Amino acid sequence: MYKMTFDYHTHTIYSPGPVRSHGKGTPEENVRAAVSKGLKGIAISDHGPGHLTYGIKREKISELHREILRLRKVYPEIEIYMSVEANIVQGGNFLDVRPEEFALFDFVHAGYHFGVRNAFVVSNFIYNKGLNKGEREKFARRNTDIIVNAVMKNRLKILTHPGDKAPVEMKRIAAACEKTGTWMEVNNSHGHLDIDELKICAPYDVKFVISSDAHKPEKVGSYETALERILEAGIDISRVVNIEKV
Ligand SMILES: [Zn+2]
Ligand SMILES: [Zn+2]
Repeated sequence: MYKMTFDYHTHTIYSPGPVRSHGKGTPEENVRAAVSKGLKGIAISDHGPGHLTYGIKREKISELHREILRLRKVYPEIEIYMSVEANIVQGGNFLDVRPEEFALFDFVHAGYHFGVRNAFVVSNFIYNKGLNKGEREKFARRNTDIIVNAVMKNRLKILTHPGDKAPVEMKRIAAACEKTGTWMEVNNSHGHLDIDELKICAPYDVKFVISSDAHKPEKVGSYETALERILEAGIDISRVVNIEKV
């Protein structure tokens, strides 16, 4: 039997949306769900401010921070972290969270997403529709370049769902995570890392983390399908930072 200890990647209504909010629950609802599942800790990690529809509004960051300080007093039985899932982009520090904004968060994750500017979004989107398959190498190289730069130039806690949404050179990404001590995510909502990707990463000295990536409170603490992939790939559970054998 296994048990998740910390869920470092969950979304709330601070990830807004064009009509209804992208994250469905409040931070308090996510925390309550985490308490009821017996987790030791939970992070609120809404989408970075550069996402055109789902990104947290910069002016809301201090409001969320105040709410997290309040929740820590109400729920002392659980660790509550303020994080953000930054978007990987081209140029600058390769994120939509600027270096001077890192201090606003307990830690910063980053992942590749559509819905941002300057991230080869159109070509990757079309590629995923089955067109431009002949361009795989070129696309994978430039996608990997911005992901590796984001990992190397920032102190990230987690690289979220590597391999999702865009072709990449996974060996180079694993090497960058090894060098920087960045945890590689096995995401329970997205299928990445998938089993083949996990096998590519296994020889590198990297740690893995399972995240629910919950967009509604009832998904907080979900880890089961991600754990199945890890076991299927033959990865020792001691390399997964937030799973305990019980
Ligand atoms: Zn994501
Ligand atoms: Zn997410």
